[in-house]
Amino acid sequence: MARSKKRVKHTVAQARNAMRRAVEQIVDPGPADVTALWAHFESRCAYCGVDLVGRFCGRPHRPR
Ligand SMILES: [Zn+2]
Repeated sequence: MARSKKRVKHTVAQARNAMRRAVEQIVDPGPADVTALWAHFESRCAYCGVDLVGRFCGRPHRPR
């Protein structure tokens, strides 16, 4: 008896998001190492100067 292969179903929105993320990774993969960035900004928010110590300041100007 032949068994049918189970198909993974994606919604249109899931496919669109996956494609967008894949293209973003190709076009702009971002820095491989952000250690130098933390050092440059002395672990402070570049906009308001709040000490971040490994997190974002939570204000509206934080990155997506
Ligand atoms: Zn800030």
